[in-house]
Amino acid sequence: MKPAFFRPLELFESATSYRLLPFRFHRQDDCVLLTNEVGEFEFVDNAEFSSLVARKLERGDTYNSLKAKHFLSDGDVRVPLELLATKVRTKREFLSGFTRLHIFVVSLRCDHTCPYCQVSRVTQDRNRFDMSVDTANKAIDWVFSSPAPEMKVEFQGGEPTLNWPLVEHIVVAVEARAALETRHIDFVLATNLSALDDRVLAFCREHRIHLSTSLDGPMDLHNANRPRPGRDSYERFKTNLSRARAELGHDQVSALMTTTPASLGRVKEIIDEYVSLSFDSIFLRPISPYGFAKRTGLDHSYGAQTFLAFYREGLEYIIELNRRGVPFIEAYAQIILRKILTPFSVGYVDLQNPAALGTGVVVYNYDGDVYASDEARMLAEMGDKSFRLGGVSDRYEDVMSSPRLQRWAESSCLEAMPGCSECAYLPYCGSDPVQNWATQGDTVGHRPTSEFCARQTGLFEYFFDVLRNGDEFTRKLFLAWASM
Ligand code: SF4
Repeated sequence: MKPAFFRPLELFESATSYRLLPFRFHRQDDCVLLTNEVGEFEFVDNAEFSSLVARKLERGDTYNSLKAKHFLSDGDVRVPLELLATKVRTKREFLSGFTRLHIFVVSLRCDHTCPYCQVSRVTQDRNRFDMSVDTANKAIDWVFSSPAPEMKVEFQGGEPTLNWPLVEHIVVAVEARAALETRHIDFVLATNLSALDDRVLAFCREHRIHLSTSLDGPMDLHNANRPRPGRDSYERFKTNLSRARAELGHDQVSALMTTTPASLGRVKEIIDEYVSLSFDSIFLRPISPYGFAKRTGLDHSYGAQTFLAFYREGLEYIIELNRRGVPFIEAYAQIILRKILTPFSVGYVDLQNPAALGTGVVVYNYDGDVYASDEARMLAEMGDKSFRLGGVSDRYEDVMSSPRLQRWAESSCLEAMPGCSECAYLPYCGSDPVQNWATQGDTVGHRPTSEFCARQTGLFEYFFDVLRNGDEFTRKLFLAWASM
């Protein structure tokens, strides 16, 4: 006789008065962390966990808390499942409206020669590496093919100010079209600030363009990490930061840093530099495995554990600063804490499940190629166009409904990925098929040898340890960051 595909129903029926709802768990030294589909979490001790799964947990505080968070149900099971479904929709709200972030690579040219540059910038040949007006107009049609009522248009490079007339053209055209279609568009200019002049500043003020820039630390470190002719990238940064803040408003300029081997051991100095320049946050980022970072071997210059030690020292210093009355935030911690501590959707495209490829972000390259993410075009500059969606002359509808895009979405659902599907940190994590492809040779990847997974696991362990064992000040600070 053929064996039954499913085990008998009786085996799943409860002998007690409650049913277990779906959850994952992670054993720690003296307790077990439970998480469910919507990111609710609970710590239980080992004895409670054994009783819970044996469906013998006595009524009491733990029982009530687990019931309130939908880990178990002792009534009509449809009610908590419907509530969970509503919470899932809220958490995945970033999927509604489809593509919200549209990145224009208006030029690959740059005046800096950063050794960790992920985009393989070039220093010359305006004709070959600048986006044309015709390409930009077709890309604008793509932007408005997305049904999202609110979108962000971001200018990337190279250094986008080196092709400034095209940025102006795109902003004016996008604003006109947005007004006709009653859509809201935010603009972001990713710039090293070195070529900021009065024309750029006046236009950014008039059109409320936010500046996103890079600061790697004190002068010697910034100049070493971000060289340019004249060896004055820090001086230019500082001068133009003041001008930009004066013209656009203090909060209209944000910065992020990249951790190179030269940064290791200097995290407090780097944070002090941000504080002394009146930034209210820092984003402590590792090197990405693309472009020159890959070619020069910088992407392998330190491992996940080294970065975690650097990050943790930095975060603990930031907590100390807050304790001393200096309000300051670490941006990646804030993203993760929002995922852990709030019921809301977090629209950070680099940590989404499923990955934001095409559905969350589209990149229009200077040459008219369209890519599924910023990392996808970085990979293309290295000669690998595996994640090219098409070209600006293609029909948006054809590309966005293509089997390839659907396959990437399917293969980036953590619930279906080996290693992730049973991970307790899944509700707060994300996947990146492009990085898996670039570092491990396939889109699904291999979690036990993944640097990304090692980093994420270390970060989640740290945050949950603080949430359980940290002092009251730190827990309140984390809650405040998550609520901002
Ligand atoms: S990448 Fe690692 S930490 Fe993230 S869900 Fe997968 S297994 Fe968990």
